[in-house]
Amino acid sequence: TQHVTVVGAGLAGSEAAWQLAKRGIQVHLYEMRPVKQTPAHHTDKFAELVCTNSLRSNALTNAVGVLKEEMRLLDSVIISSADKCAVPAGGALAVDRHEFSANVTERVKEHPLVKVFNEEVDGIPDGPTVIATGPLTSDKLSASLKSLTGEDYLYFYDAAAPIIETDSIDRDKVYLKSRYDKGDAAYLNCPMTEEEFDRFYDALVSAETVSLKDFEKEVFFEGCMPIEVMAKRGKKTMLFGPMKPVGLEDPKTGKRPYAVVQLRQDNASGTLYNVVGFQTHLKWGPQKEIIRMIPGLENADIVRYGVMHRNTFVNSPKLLKPTYQYCGREDLFFAGQMTGVEGYVESAASGLIAGINAARLVSGQNPVVFPEQTAIGSMAHYITTANADNFQPMNANFGLFPPLEKKIKNKQERNEQYAKRALGTIQNFVTKL
Ligand code: FAD
Repeated sequence: TQHVTVVGAGLAGSEAAWQLAKRGIQVHLYEMRPVKQTPAHHTDKFAELVCTNSLRSNALTNAVGVLKEEMRLLDSVIISSADKCAVPAGGALAVDRHEFSANVTERVKEHPLVKVFNEEVDGIPDGPTVIATGPLTSDKLSASLKSLTGEDYLYFYDAAAPIIETDSIDRDKVYLKSRYDKGDAAYLNCPMTEEEFDRFYDALVSAETVSLKDFEKEVFFEGCMPIEVMAKRGKKTMLFGPMKPVGLEDPKTGKRPYAVVQLRQDNASGTLYNVVGFQTHLKWGPQKEIIRMIPGLENADIVRYGVMHRNTFVNSPKLLKPTYQYCGREDLFFAGQMTGVEGYVESAASGLIAGINAARLVSGQNPVVFPEQTAIGSMAHYITTANADNFQPMNANFGLFPPLEKKIKNKQERNEQYAKRALGTIQNFVTKL
């Protein structure tokens, strides 16, 4: 029988390969690592998480929580592995990154219908294909894609937060607490006085950063903005962002600090913590000095510095159908960050649809459009119908859902209704697949 080629074994490609294989389709999965690395990946494992170890909210009052639940109903390899490798993170789904990637790799690789090739793909393969090479698609393939689409790529920066060794944190200065005591106490909090914040702020805005390359435009995706860029927007900006102190009163004093830096557990054994929201473009020397100005982190051992990276995505409103098929070639699918969905879970979700539809196509069935009332379908709808002139990547959010029949003012209630409608719709849809 005809095989499907999947290029890239990241969040989207691993999911696409899994969905194909579980439908009885042979998969040729191409992954260039470890033969060739990207600037952000460090391992040879599939579905490596290049920045935070959090897959964001697990709550059904949050669109990305609904998206995960829909993916569970569709037997997502990414979400089931994440559930298996979860670490405490309040209401979020965070994972031990090494266990998670190892788990995805093992399950996909060991599927009898999946054949893995550790090679860089330079051109667009013939025959049924899913391209899922991510924000750091190799240069050669980027050039081939450019000549296929005839469009210019858009570039922007992402940033990875620093990771520190737990043993090097001064436990007398920090305290364990989740904001408003929601869920398990999952974060270590470093409290700052106004004086400490002022000194920290001055150092941060004047620290030396890595110089940007000419071809890269400085546009950031929400939730991963470099801390020094945020700081430069105004002195108070960080106090409403990653350094927000509300709900984080210090249990020792009962008082709310002026500012708080939060540390999130980064691995199952708890030996590593990441500095939440501190993705940065700072050079390593100044970066270390600034991290060590944070109370409790005076002697922090940084095991991975924050770094900056390029992102690659195509103009989906012009080029893709909501089935994730390329408009000019029905057996060519795109998936992941390069379609303009944004985030780990969203990337995997698009891979899930592309995988299902590629399987349907080679089995002689029509590809399906997922209902817009679902989180997974609302993303596909958005990226293919957004304004092509200023298309920007998008996270899952309830704003992409069609309005409810009855207007509900209360946000929490409205979100609950969106979630209820989405899950009802997907349950019904799955039975027809
Ligand atoms: P990837 O997971 O990157 O997978 C693509 C795969 O294709 C890689 O394994 C790569 O090696 C391979 N590949 C590339 N070119 C070729 C080729 N020519 N031949 C064969 N293989 C190839 N999202 C979040 O939700 N939270 C975050 O904190 C976050 N931080 C990010 C930080 C950085 C630095 C970057 C770059 C992105 C970040 N993202 C984040 C965005 C995005 O969710 C992730 O990049 C996600 O991994 C995208 O999934 P993907 O499957 O599209 O790509």
